[in-house]
Amino acid sequence: MTQVKEARFETLEMKRQHYSMIINGERVDGAETFTTYNPATGEKIATVAKATIEDAEKAILAARQSFDYGKWKKSPINKRSRVLNKIAGIMRARFNELVELEILDSGKSLSAAQGQVMQAIEDFEFYAGAIVGHRGNVNNVPGQFQNVAEKEPVGVCAQIIPWNYPLMMAAWKIAPAIATGCSIVVKPATLTPLTAIVLGEICIEAGVPEGVVNILPGAGSSVGNYLVEHEKVDKVAFTGSTPIGKNIMEKASQTLKRVTLELGGKSPNIVFEDADIDAAVDGSLFGIFYNTGQSCEARSRLYIHESIYETFMEKFVEKTKKLQLGDPFNKTTHIGAVISEEQLKVIDGYVQSAKEEGATIVTGGKVAEIEGFEAGYWYEPTVITNVHHDMKVVKEEIFGPVVVVMPFKDEKEAVKLANDSEYGLGSALWTKDYARATRVSKQIEAGIVMVNCPFSAFPGTPFGGYKQSGFGRELCIETLDLYTETKSIISYFGSRPLNPFGL
Ligand code: NAD
Ligand code: MN
Repeated sequence: MTQVKEARFETLEMKRQHYSMIINGERVDGAETFTTYNPATGEKIATVAKATIEDAEKAILAARQSFDYGKWKKSPINKRSRVLNKIAGIMRARFNELVELEILDSGKSLSAAQGQVMQAIEDFEFYAGAIVGHRGNVNNVPGQFQNVAEKEPVGVCAQIIPWNYPLMMAAWKIAPAIATGCSIVVKPATLTPLTAIVLGEICIEAGVPEGVVNILPGAGSSVGNYLVEHEKVDKVAFTGSTPIGKNIMEKASQTLKRVTLELGGKSPNIVFEDADIDAAVDGSLFGIFYNTGQSCEARSRLYIHESIYETFMEKFVEKTKKLQLGDPFNKTTHIGAVISEEQLKVIDGYVQSAKEEGATIVTGGKVAEIEGFEAGYWYEPTVITNVHHDMKVVKEEIFGPVVVVMPFKDEKEAVKLANDSEYGLGSALWTKDYARATRVSKQIEAGIVMVNCPFSAFPGTPFGGYKQSGFGRELCIETLDLYTETKSIISYFGSRPLNPFGL
């Protein structure tokens, strides 16, 4: 059992060889399975039940049944809140297991996995609290009338998640949905299904009634698509690439499903001449290389004021060369594996295209050979200069450890360059001038602006995109509105009967 050999915490979860679907509160296996691998070593981790269309149908019906006839959506808020806290409690008790499983399945580094698992836990705690304060309102209407606008759960939600933050994305979706009383069918990515399945099991253990949380590992093109088209599904919450997001929006229009889309990005990172250069260097390194650059909000376009360009770049490149790749379980590893061989080829293809278009590869630019991890997928942290805005490598999301760098002359040009993208998810700026930080923040076309800060998300902070990075916000109070409908109840309490036709 390879996974036991490489397991560092030797947890029980690591002895497990097979993961089932969760449908109607039960572990379910079907006719088919697929295998999930460790991208750092290429080794097999476990087999996973592969959902078929029939399984998807069962999961949707279980969710529908629980929503239409079950108790969950009618349960008192304090009960739902207690269950969410219990989920968080079980996750805390199994923290190491979740971290270990996430590292094995995704190849990410220990520090990244620890941070993400902790945030997933805190997301449940956040929504356990937030749901208590989520309510409709009473509106001003003429005397003898009353209007109460109530919040009702939107219904059955399909939640489709990507491979880059397998557990955290599952938490961002599951926690607000069940807090509001929705029933869900979650489809994890086939490359990284394990932690979402375990989270589904934890939800059941914590007391979420049967049918409310269903986990459906399987292919996007079959079961994912089926969820999106199904007339009994009321909402689709999707996180993934922009092309698939467009496809989903089009398909969902047939039944007019509610849709929220968290899509790709090509986020700018602007360093002004008055910035604390060392802080900007460290924050910019984290901004692009965290999670091996496989982040929707990766700050992959770096713009440096021309007067500090050389000083900044000297430090930035020197530190890029110091980044440690290797054993993801090692505390000192900064950069884990790339998710798959296919993705490795995509990344390298972008770097080759940059070379062909005349850019300069300052450091990195090739597949990395890591001793002891030869069968895994690794790419050297890569810095590219001499680029312009017509290049593929500047326009398109690479989703790997590759940053493009350009100098700029003044604030106006920096804003123009930053906004010259079809995406609008994250952005960062580094300056000690508060007025400038405020002025530029207001001009940036992006859902998130990080000012002198490398971090893009905490439980409670709205996360989501402008432009082709999607719409809808997760991780925040507003998310609860996106899992609810507003019902406006207008009542008359006058003593005289109303006779508007005067008959
Ligand atoms: P992807 O679009 O290939 O797949 C995402 C999910 O959609 C997977 O579960 C996949 O199986 C499913 N899917 C694929 N085709 C489908 C279809 N036709 N119908 C329904 N479901 C389908 O994306 P990925 O490669 O897994 O993830 C990387 C992408 O996700 C990047 O573009 C990244 O920027 C984006 N992302 C965005 C955010 C955000 O919050 N904005 C967060 C993480 C990742
Ligand atoms: Mn995997």
